[in-house]
Amino acid sequence: MGREGLAHSVGLKDTINTSAIFSKYEHVFTPMNVKLLKALLNASTLESTRRKNLLLYDYLVSCHIGNQLKELSDKANNYETSATIKVGGKSVPYRQAAVLVMNQPDRKKRQQITELVKKPKATLTKLNEEALEQEYALLKQLTGKDYVGYYEFVKGMKYDRFADDLRKFLIDTQGIYTGRLNEILAEMKIPIDDARKHDLGYYNRAHKFDRYFPKNKLLLTLKKTLAGMGFNLDRQKNIHVDASERPNKVPRAFCSTLIVPQEIHLVLKPHGGQEDYQTILHEAGHSEHFANTRDDMDYEFKHMGAHSVSESYAFLFEYLLLDPNWLQTYINMPAKAEREFLQFLWTNKLFFLRRYAGKIVYEVKLHRNDLRKLDEDWKPMREKYASAADMYADIFSRAICVKCEGVDYLIDVDSGFYSADYLKAWMFEVQIRKVLKERFGPTWFTNKKAGAFLKDLWQFGSSGMTQDELAQRIGYDKVDKRYLIEELLEAFEAH
Ligand SMILES: [Zn+2]
Repeated sequence: MGREGLAHSVGLKDTINTSAIFSKYEHVFTPMNVKLLKALLNASTLESTRRKNLLLYDYLVSCHIGNQLKELSDKANNYETSATIKVGGKSVPYRQAAVLVMNQPDRKKRQQITELVKKPKATLTKLNEEALEQEYALLKQLTGKDYVGYYEFVKGMKYDRFADDLRKFLIDTQGIYTGRLNEILAEMKIPIDDARKHDLGYYNRAHKFDRYFPKNKLLLTLKKTLAGMGFNLDRQKNIHVDASERPNKVPRAFCSTLIVPQEIHLVLKPHGGQEDYQTILHEAGHSEHFANTRDDMDYEFKHMGAHSVSESYAFLFEYLLLDPNWLQTYINMPAKAEREFLQFLWTNKLFFLRRYAGKIVYEVKLHRNDLRKLDEDWKPMREKYASAADMYADIFSRAICVKCEGVDYLIDVDSGFYSADYLKAWMFEVQIRKVLKERFGPTWFTNKKAGAFLKDLWQFGSSGMTQDELAQRIGYDKVDKRYLIEELLEAFEAH
């Protein structure tokens, strides 16, 4: 499956045929085998065996559902790649519309494209509705659990409690966020009441910093950064770097872990700009994590579960861009531009954190079909939203504080609460970075001992240790959101 997806994404294969692979192996993920594994899971006495069985159980359940929904998901994928809209008489692929909007300085034109994509989005949403209904039913049938209950079980999470924490986060950061937002909108000459999601998209694209992040220095900057920590990308034979230009290669960098730790693919299509640098560092974080996983770990621990662990290391590298010391070492920016850039990037980070906090609040309610409206403190009231789409529009408009519409109410949903994994990674990343600075100084990223420290964490792969256990390994009690909030408040005071 990984190889098929990789060939398609790097532009070596036009079509993707996962259906055939699912069919070939459907004898593996039968309901009978799911039941057998559940019995094994219940009978596991050793903690490590229990964890492995849980990972395998979740894997079989998701494959069984994936197999049942393969036609529907192929249909949605094919529709998404083939749908077009007409912009100014020209036909534009639906998938490129978001990039067009982000790069469009003219507000009216941004709004126009936003209206045009509503039609293909509605078609996609119909398919998503059907898929989600089937997924709910299949989960219930196979596991006896509803959507939220199932993911709480396999991921060891309490999503209601997590959503409560995030409601508090939204309240705690409301003041610093809207303060900055008002400044940005005033600069853009957009009345606050009229601001839209696409206005923030354009702001986040940040054209004015492009010249400091040129396309031709991207790979070199990455290699130098890694070398500083003692990783020589040219000599790491288990990381295959693919930087070739191919017309159908996906524009966004990604990491594909075909065999951990022997065969990791780091794929990029450099186009420059700060976001491209962020993304490549992020994906390099994943790549180094899996490339440095111990080979003698069990397959389940190397390959399955706990996205939040790997995302923590990916964020650690990504947010090097927020470090003035890194900027001074690797990017040559005049002091004034650096100040502006840091202010931009902190705002950008808070924007994403609030968006994802809103996502959790929304996704828990969506999957529970809990349409109760939320009051000013994000607490449920008796009154109800007219639809899930209305609920989406309200929650996201309040999280990012500009007007959002309900059209994305199923398109903008992360399967299996991946959004919570990101948030947990955002929290743990700050904790790792804090220890790195304490032990190796403010320029820790130029210290090979910092690399060795990270390798010690990376050896456990995805799931050999939980995120909380890793936090304990470096001196904390557990993953704690406190550090993230403290750092944000400090940063907004300084910038
Ligand atoms: Zn990632």
